[in-house]
Amino acid sequence: MKYVAKLVVFLYIYFMIKFFKEKIFFLINKKDKEFIRHRVMKSDHKIYTAVLIAIMVIEAIMLLLSLLNVGSASVINVENGYRFCYAFFIAACFICLILLSIFYKKDKPFPYYVFVAIFMFCTMLWGVGVSILASTENFSFLYFAICMVGCSAFICLEPWITGLSSILSSMIYITLYYTVDGVKRTDSGTLYSCILLIMIIVLVAFYFNFFRRINAIKLELEVSKLNELLEKQAYIDDLTKVYNRRYLTENIDSELNYGEKKTGLLMLDIDHFKDINDTYGHLVGDSCLRLLGNIILKSIKEEGDYCVRYGGEEFLIFFNQTTKDDLLDKAENLRKTIQNSIVQVKGGNNLSYTISIGCAIAENNISYNKLIKQADEALYRAKETRNTVSR
Ligand code: GH3
Ligand code: MG
Ligand code: MG
Repeated sequence: MKYVAKLVVFLYIYFMIKFFKEKIFFLINKKDKEFIRHRVMKSDHKIYTAVLIAIMVIEAIMLLLSLLNVGSASVINVENGYRFCYAFFIAACFICLILLSIFYKKDKPFPYYVFVAIFMFCTMLWGVGVSILASTENFSFLYFAICMVGCSAFICLEPWITGLSSILSSMIYITLYYTVDGVKRTDSGTLYSCILLIMIIVLVAFYFNFFRRINAIKLELEVSKLNELLEKQAYIDDLTKVYNRRYLTENIDSELNYGEKKTGLLMLDIDHFKDINDTYGHLVGDSCLRLLGNIILKSIKEEGDYCVRYGGEEFLIFFNQTTKDDLLDKAENLRKTIQNSIVQVKGGNNLSYTISIGCAIAENNISYNKLIKQADEALYRAKETRNTVSR
């Protein structure tokens, strides 16, 4: 009976590790894992804090009662053992409380997560200690109950961590159970079947709870990705792939740079675009716009720079940090690139077209609208000759 029970525990542990490794640990991909850990940290921090404080208060009361000599143990060594367990748990809670708060504030889910796992293991160790002490007075499997409570408080941890912790603490429990003097032992069959039973409960509870939770978070992740995409699409012009007018309306309150590096603006307009439409048709006109959008997007490299389709064939390009000379260079490069580009027309003809550009730079704390007006005026001047950059 004893050997059969040991074999069952061994097989159980072996298959559990195999199962966790293959089915659970690698099920969540790396990117999602980070998101999930972050999400769990954000939502569970308050609960963890409350649990830690509650444990500290309870343990402090227990320690105080024990010091006031109303402890239940009849042997002083056992009583001291209990005191050590209470003090150990208070210290573990306190350290964890501080560290979790630091990592939460610094928004670092990984170390946060590691310390929750370490703390869960401490909870199990405490359970082992108290159970061994209780077993010297009367026969007790208190450890199992504590193991369950400890695990359930940290339900968000990946099941393999819980599995590993419970295996380790069970091994420590079994070792102490057979080596500490004065422990009232039951037969090994009962001990191992209890351990087996508790591990099955831990495994099943964690598996389902964890995945129910993870699936909810994954759903939330998908919804937020979808929202992000929709939001992006709502601001993107379908034909040219640059931002649409709505984006400009939303951005109009953002800060302009007036320092040494200023916000620069180019207003572009295709020359004689109406003629292109009239001669080649609107589809060719659309191809010209698509090409222009493409070239503009390739020319915007710095963060904070963006392009807006302002009207039919008019575009605004905002450069976040630029100088007058740099802005004129950029405009000239764009003008030349467009002039040298070709749009394929049905029948084998190649079409090329030109643009005119007005430049403006944010000086003297001018407003967004004023900056656009200045670029518009410069564009008007450029249109006098066309295929020109004007400031
Ligand atoms: P200018 O050199 O003075 O800018 O002359 P223009 O012909 O380019 O200027 P105008 O404002 O007279 O014409 C703009 C044309 O742009 C009129 C309109 O049909 C065309 N347009 C506006 N949006 C689109 C579009 O999405 N696709 C196509 N194919 N044409 C468009
Ligand atoms: Mg035009
Ligand atoms: Mg126009």
